[in-house]
Amino acid sequence: MQSKEIRSKFIEFFKSKSHQFVPSAPLVIKNDPTLMFTNAGMNQFKDLFLGNSKADYSRAANSQKCLRVSGKHNDLEEVGIDTYHHTMFEMLGNWSFGDYFKKDAITWAWELLTQVYGLPKDKLYVTVFEGDKSEDLDFDQEAFDLWKQYIDEARILGGNKKDNFWEMGETGPCGPCSEIHIDLRSDEEIAKTPGKDLVNNDHPQVVEVWNLVFMQYDRKADGHLESLPAQHIDTGMGFERLSMALQQKGSTYDTDVFTPLIDYIAKQSGVAYGTSEKTDIAIRVIVDHIRAISFAIADGQLPSNNKAGYVIRRILRRAVRYGYTFLNFKEPFLYGLMPILAEQFSGVFDELVSQQDFIAKVIKEEEASFLRTLENGLKRLDQVQANMKAEGTDVIDGQVVFELYDTFGFPVDLTGLIARENGLSIDEKGFTEAMAVQKQRSKADAAQVKGDWIQVSEEETSEFVGYDEVALKTKII
Ligand code: ATP
Ligand code: MG
Ligand code: MG
Ligand code: MG
Repeated sequence: MQSKEIRSKFIEFFKSKSHQFVPSAPLVIKNDPTLMFTNAGMNQFKDLFLGNSKADYSRAANSQKCLRVSGKHNDLEEVGIDTYHHTMFEMLGNWSFGDYFKKDAITWAWELLTQVYGLPKDKLYVTVFEGDKSEDLDFDQEAFDLWKQYIDEARILGGNKKDNFWEMGETGPCGPCSEIHIDLRSDEEIAKTPGKDLVNNDHPQVVEVWNLVFMQYDRKADGHLESLPAQHIDTGMGFERLSMALQQKGSTYDTDVFTPLIDYIAKQSGVAYGTSEKTDIAIRVIVDHIRAISFAIADGQLPSNNKAGYVIRRILRRAVRYGYTFLNFKEPFLYGLMPILAEQFSGVFDELVSQQDFIAKVIKEEEASFLRTLENGLKRLDQVQANMKAEGTDVIDGQVVFELYDTFGFPVDLTGLIARENGLSIDEKGFTEAMAVQKQRSKADAAQVKGDWIQVSEEETSEFVGYDEVALKTKII
């Protein structure tokens, strides 16, 4: 089944169960200090769950563009290294706002997966919340009893609070969840290690596909839980992972979501996918990152030097550096993927299609400007590494990390990544200090010109510095 059909089958199925199709919210969130990018389908419905607004429907479904590169959900470091986490991905979801609850959510999820999509029951596992004594929360017997009607008890696994209890934030709606995992290994492999031992264990072929959240509590400011007056359903299924399961592939990159992009990069670089681990990672990084960059631009976020714009710039530079180092791309190349993306998403996310020329132009210019300094920066880094070898040290000095950042436009995470590839690390603290010194200096400069008609934007400088500090602290990098 082609991925386009997989997506539309999901929407059609929930429409047939009286769900309203609600278009994907933009990838980039403006005006919410708590979230930079949409990272789950439920984001746009937050106010409905909180009871702050009302909709004229009580059931909804869609495919939501998500980006997980910052904050609580940050998968950036896994992307390309593993074969099932993406920066940008689509989350297929269905919601009930005070309407149906566990029974229908579970029944329909099962019906869709096993009857509509025809996934084999004996390759699926489901997890239910095992309870938590410290919170006086019980085992989710209700979910267990519902699942038991459909799947062998031995395939229903208990899960802890980390994996099976969802919370919107420190306060607000929350509740247990049930996840559906699939074992895509060969029968021979399955005979060696039972799949249940690999669920939630970072195995590339035993992957989580769908999460069904049962919102039934409200976390109060003092931390205690109360029952919600109305119970809600919030589900999210990774579209690329579902495609991997239905197309029986060993990785999301082997599905038709990615193969046209991979083929193009392989052709342009002359390096086939599957040649070596290093070049494979580079190819995966590139075909993943181009989607994040393009959708962010389509939704109004240009690469820039602060906040969300800087995150996008870093993702773009990461892709360019991988291409340059491992695939020998010395000229802009990412932008060349735009026509393929536009064709793939035509009729699905037309904002990408209608703006494809503009997006390609922005990307090409960004690439060209970064490539101009990349070579010099890499030379400088080589020099530094040679000196370090001679001195027997393995931590790159914070001042040098800062110089690479300031003079060569190397995001800290990029320097960190190159360092790790060479068995080194970076002095993050030293970098932060060097950054703080620069911040002071530019503040002083800004103060000097105050009153003059050419004012240096203090806000812009501090936002920029602030973001990187946050990035370091929260390990966004
Ligand atoms: P994982 O444990 O694999 O990181 P998760 O538990 O963080 O996933 P959820 O927050 O439950 O994911 O999101 C719902 C679904 O979205 C997941 O079941 C998965 O199919 C998909 N998903 C989550 N993160 C990613 C990602 N980075 N790339 C692709 N799909 C993802
Ligand atoms: Mg995750
Ligand atoms: Mg998980
Ligand atoms: Mg999950």
